[in-house]
Amino acid sequence: MSDCIFCRIAAGEIPADIIYEDEDIVAFRDINPQAPQHIQIIPKRHIETILDLTDDDITLTGRMVLVANKIAREAGIAERGYRLVFNCRRDAGQEVFHIHLHLLGGRRMNWPPG
Ligand code: AMP
Ligand code: ZN
Repeated sequence: MSDCIFCRIAAGEIPADIIYEDEDIVAFRDINPQAPQHIQIIPKRHIETILDLTDDDITLTGRMVLVANKIAREAGIAERGYRLVFNCRRDAGQEVFHIHLHLLGGRRMNWPPG
C-alpha cells in the first residue's frame, strides 16, 4: 500500500533505523521511543490489524516473535526482560494500521499498562 508508512519503510522508500531484515520481516527503531530499547517488528506484507491474520500467517507471526527475541538478546535486555505488544484498533491506541510488534525494554515496565 503506497500510502502506508510501514509499507514504505519496508520498501526502503522512507528512511528508518533498520536493525534486522529478511525476506518477510523488517525491524527498525521506533521514532518516538517509550523505553531505552523500543523496536518495531513488522511483516513486509501489508496487514492492517492483528484481526486480519489468518491461519496462513501463523508462521509469519511466530517468526516475528523469534526476531524480537533475537533482537532482545543482541541488545542485552533478554536477561532482565522485555515486553512485546500488539496494539489492535482504537481502544488499544493503534495509530499505524500495518501490524507491528513493539519490543520495549531497558527499563522496568509498569503493569497494568495504562
Ligand atoms: P501503534 O500506536 O501501536 O500503532 O504504534 C505506532 C508506533 O509507530 C509508535 O510507537 C510510533 O512512534 C511509531 N512510528 C510511527 N512512524 C514511525 C516511523 N516513521 N519510524 C519509526 N517508528 C514510527
Ligand atoms: Zn502497510
